[in-house]
Amino acid sequence: MKLYEPSVIKDISNRYDFRLSRSLGQNFITDGSVIDGIVVGAGITEEDLVIEIGPGIGVLTARAAASAGRVVAVEIDGKLIPVLKETLAGYDNIRIVNSDILKTDIKGIIEEEAARGFKGPVKIIGNLPYYITTPIIMKLLEEDVPAESITVMMQKEVADRIRSGPGSRAYGAISVAVQYYCSVEEIMKVSREVFIPRPKVDSAVLKLTVREKPSAEPADKKAFFSCVRAAFGQRRKTLLNSLTGYLDLSKGEIGAVLDEAGIDSRRRAETLSIEEFSRISDRAVELAKNK
Ligand code: SAM
Repeated sequence: MKLYEPSVIKDISNRYDFRLSRSLGQNFITDGSVIDGIVVGAGITEEDLVIEIGPGIGVLTARAAASAGRVVAVEIDGKLIPVLKETLAGYDNIRIVNSDILKTDIKGIIEEEAARGFKGPVKIIGNLPYYITTPIIMKLLEEDVPAESITVMMQKEVADRIRSGPGSRAYGAISVAVQYYCSVEEIMKVSREVFIPRPKVDSAVLKLTVREKPSAEPADKKAFFSCVRAAFGQRRKTLLNSLTGYLDLSKGEIGAVLDEAGIDSRRRAETLSIEEFSRISDRAVELAKNK
C-alpha cells in the first residue's frame, strides 16, 4: 500500500478523526507519478536541503527525503502533525515545523539547518495551498530566501499567468514580478482528477530558478514595482493614461517620460517587457526627483 492511495488517505483521516479542510487548501495528491515529477523536476540530490511547504500527510515529504540530504516541512494544520510523525517515522532526515508559512522565518530555518551542518543548496518544493499561492511565492522572492529553485504545484491559471510574456492576455504584474527574480519552466500539467478531494480546476507544476541577478536593474526597485502595478492596474488603458499619477507625475510629465524612454505612449501594459518597465520607472524617478 502506498501512502498516496485514496484508501490509505481515508484510513488515516478516520483513525486520526480529521476532515480534509477546504479552507486550508487541502487537496492531497493520489498519483505517484506526479510526486516523482515534482522531485525529479526540482532536481533534488542528496546534497540538498529541501524546504517543503504544506506536507499534508507527507506523500511528497517522504519521496523528497529519499533523494535529499535533509527536508524541513512547514505545515500549518496541527492535526496533521501526529499523522506526519507516523507516516514519516522511517526517515531520520526530516524535520516538521508546525507553523503558517506566511509567518515563518524561512531564512532563520535555513540558518539553523546550516548551523547543524545541512547547508544545502536549498530547494523549495510543495503542492501549494491554492488560496495563498501568490503570497507564498512573493514572500519567498521578496524576502530574498537563499534558495536555488522553487518547484511548486499551483492552479493552472495562476501558472499560466506566471509564465506568460508580453503580448499575452495572461501577462500581468505577477508574471513580471516572478520573471524579474526567476526563470520559469513548466514541469508538467496535472489533472484535477488526481487529488482528494477533487478541486474545481486543473493544476500545473512550475520550476522557478532564482536568477543570480534580476532580469532588469531598475535604479529604484520599489518605484519599478509600483510602475508595474500602476500600468497593469488599468491594463486596458494606454500607458499615458494608466501611468498618470504614478510618482505624482502629471499626464504631460508621463508623456515626456515615455518619450525619453523611447516608448509609444499609446501602448498598453501587456505589451511591455521587464526591461521597458525598468526604463520607464528610471526616467520617471529622475523626473520626480528633479521637480
Ligand atoms: N503535500 C500534500 C500533498 O501534496 O498531498 C498536501 C498539499 S495540500 C494542496 C496543501 C497543504 O498546505 C495542506 O496540508 C495544508 O494544511 C497546508 N497549508 C495550508 N495553508 C498553509 C500555510 N499557511 N502554511 C503552511 N501550510 C499550509
